[in-house]
Amino acid sequence: MSMMNKAIQAIQKNQTFMVTTHCNPEGDALGSSLALALFLNQLGKKARVVIKDPIPYFLDFLPEKGLITQSSAIPGRFDIICVCDCGDIERTGYFKNPGPGEKIDYPAGEVINMDHHVTNTNFGTINWIEGEASATGEMVYDLIHAMKGSITPAIATAIYTTIITETGSFHYSNTTPKMFKIAAECAETGIDINLIARGIYDTSSEGRLALLGMVLNTLEVSHSGKIAHISVTGEMFKKTGTSPEDTENFVSFPRSIKGVEAAILFRENSPTEYKISLRSQTALDVSEVAHSFGGGGHRKAAGCTVQGALADVKKKVIQALGKKLHSS
Ligand code: 5GP
Repeated sequence: MSMMNKAIQAIQKNQTFMVTTHCNPEGDALGSSLALALFLNQLGKKARVVIKDPIPYFLDFLPEKGLITQSSAIPGRFDIICVCDCGDIERTGYFKNPGPGEKIDYPAGEVINMDHHVTNTNFGTINWIEGEASATGEMVYDLIHAMKGSITPAIATAIYTTIITETGSFHYSNTTPKMFKIAAECAETGIDINLIARGIYDTSSEGRLALLGMVLNTLEVSHSGKIAHISVTGEMFKKTGTSPEDTENFVSFPRSIKGVEAAILFRENSPTEYKISLRSQTALDVSEVAHSFGGGGHRKAAGCTVQGALADVKKKVIQALGKKLHSS
C-alpha cells in the first residue's frame, strides 16, 4: 500500500487531529498545515493547527486563523498528529530528535509525517515523503483529490500560498506544469491572488527595511565570485526592533549576484548558535552541505543550525560549501 493510502486509512479511522509544522513557519509550512486542518474539518474530523512560533506577519492574510493556535507545548493527546513540511521532528520545537535506537513517546496513536524534503528523517509512524513534490501543499492537494474532497476558497488560499512560496512565484526550477494546474484550480475558486502576493512579497515594516540595509552591508563574496554571504546579528535585531521572521527571503539578495553559484545567510539565534540558509543557483547540491551540519532541505534550498561564534561558523560553512563547489 502506498504511504498516501496508509495516511488516508489512518485519517478515515480516527477523529481528533493536531496538525503542526516547523518553527518559524513560512508559506508552505503554514499553508499546507492550514489546508490539511481545513480539509480534515470538512471530513467531519476535529482538527486544528498548533505551532510553536507566532504566525509571521507576511502570512497574516491567511483565512480561518482561529484554527491556528500558538502553544509552547502540545495541548493534550490526539488520535493523530500530522506533521507537515518538517524534515526532522526537532524542528517542530516540541520534541528532540531521537538518538540511535531511541523512540519518541508521542501523545498520539499515529504520527503522519507529510513532507517533500528528501532529507526527511522518517520520524513518523506513517512517513509519506514525496521528494518530487514541489511543495507540501501539493501533497495536501493530492490527498484532497484522492479522498474526493472539495477545494474551498479557504483551502485554495492556503494551497496557493504554498505554491507561490515554494516556487518563488513560479521562478524556481521546481516549477512544474502541475504547479500551474493547481494554481489555476485554486484561482477558479475566486481567491484573492493580489492579497496573497501582497502579503508574501509586499508587506514590510520600517524595521525590516532598516534591517535589510544593515544586512546588505555585511555582504562578502569569495571563491572567485561564486559564493556570497550575508549575516544578521542579535544586535541588528535589537537596533531595528525586528525578529527572525523579518529575514524571510533576505538570502535572495546575495543569490541574485551575477556569477554567484551559492548564497548563504547566517542568522544569529544566540552569540554561540547560528541558523544557516543555503541557496544554490546551479547543480551544486546545498542539501548535502546542510546535512553534513545536521540540517537538511532541498538541492537548491537548505538549512541547518551550527554552534559556535560567528567567525568560526562562517569559516566552517563557507569552507564546506567551497569544497562542494570544487567537487561538483
Ligand atoms: P530556509 O533557509 O528558508 O530556512 O530553509 C530552506 C529549506 O531547508 C526549507 O525547505 C527548510 O525546510 C529546510 N531547512 C532549513 N533549516 C533546516 C534544518 O535545520 N533542518 C532541516 N532538516 N531542514 C532545514
